[in-house]
Amino acid sequence: MSSSAKRSGVWKYFVEVDKNKSKCNLCGVHLSRGGVGKTATTSTMKKHLQTKHKSEYDKVFGEAELGHYLSVPRAARDANPYKWWVSNKGHYPILGKVAAQFLSTPASSVYSERLFSEAGLIYEAKRSKLDPNRAEKLEILHHNLPLLNFNY
Ligand SMILES: [Zn+2]
Repeated sequence: MSSSAKRSGVWKYFVEVDKNKSKCNLCGVHLSRGGVGKTATTSTMKKHLQTKHKSEYDKVFGEAELGHYLSVPRAARDANPYKWWVSNKGHYPILGKVAAQFLSTPASSVYSERLFSEAGLIYEAKRSKLDPNRAEKLEILHHNLPLLNFNY
């Protein structure tokens, strides 16, 4: 086998049985690679990892995706992020799911109602001269520090 045949990150989880077959190190399943020698591909192995061993798949391809995402030029500041992700979701199947989760509109108004309620607690009578920018920072810290387990 040539060294170029093992470039894909999926080989970390497979051993080559013969020129057309590979074996999963995690569950022992034998897979046909859809060709012989140089025409054999890693697509069935990649699909197996994606469907049977999701966390390992995310490790291998999530890092590659993230690396690629960080290497491409940033979208213009006034670009629509939804449109960018729609046109680029094929390149970033894992990050696309994360983006869809974070860019989507919450289905409930409860959260925004809670924000107004908490802003009312920040703007109490004893803080009547509180700078709006500082109040906004307090609100952001109030919601984001728990996400970091106060480990900042
Ligand atoms: Zn397996």
